[in-house]
Amino acid sequence: MRIGILALQGAFEKHAEMARSLGHETILVRRKDDFESIDGLVLPGGESTVQLKLIVRFELEWSLMRFAVAGHPILATCAGLILAARTVTQPEQRSLGFVDVRVARNAWGRQIDSFEAMSDEGHPLVFIRAPRILEVGEKVDVLGRFRGEPVLIRQGNVTCATFHPELTNDPYVYRLAFRKSQANAVAQPKNDTHAPHA
Ligand code: GLN
Repeated sequence: MRIGILALQGAFEKHAEMARSLGHETILVRRKDDFESIDGLVLPGGESTVQLKLIVRFELEWSLMRFAVAGHPILATCAGLILAARTVTQPEQRSLGFVDVRVARNAWGRQIDSFEAMSDEGHPLVFIRAPRILEVGEKVDVLGRFRGEPVLIRQGNVTCATFHPELTNDPYVYRLAFRKSQANAVAQPKNDTHAPHA
């Protein structure tokens, strides 16, 4: 697949490396036009407030929305999850609402800002000033947990992690997000003349 990495701010290079190591082609996405040539997208970690401002400044919000609604696979990590969430607290912040979860930013407290751990399923996790998922909607599947709480979720074509999978040596999150079947299942919305690939 050709995977775009939103490259406005934050930890995008390591994502590109990980995607390439799995045989994907990668494109750094910075302009509306870049969306025309990608099959999947990564929303990387970083600072969600800054990323949101840059999305607005470069007029990428509509392209992001169309890409998500068209059913293309999206992997959103950490700040990316904060952008993709329905509701953001601590502090409240506008978001794109791709997945029906409520998240709290920087939610592990100052003492344990950043840490490494193992998920309940035995996968390595790297948390950096990570958000916590406080609530998941009915349509959300929980794919990974840490001490019982969701850290990896999926709703339709959008997979989200509170941690940084690109900083581990375990590519399973990419395999989950960019499965072949998912690429083939790209929705072709009928009455949506704005869909980029409809
Ligand atoms: N704390 C950041 C935010 O609120 C997210 C941190 C990260 O992406 N590693 O946007």
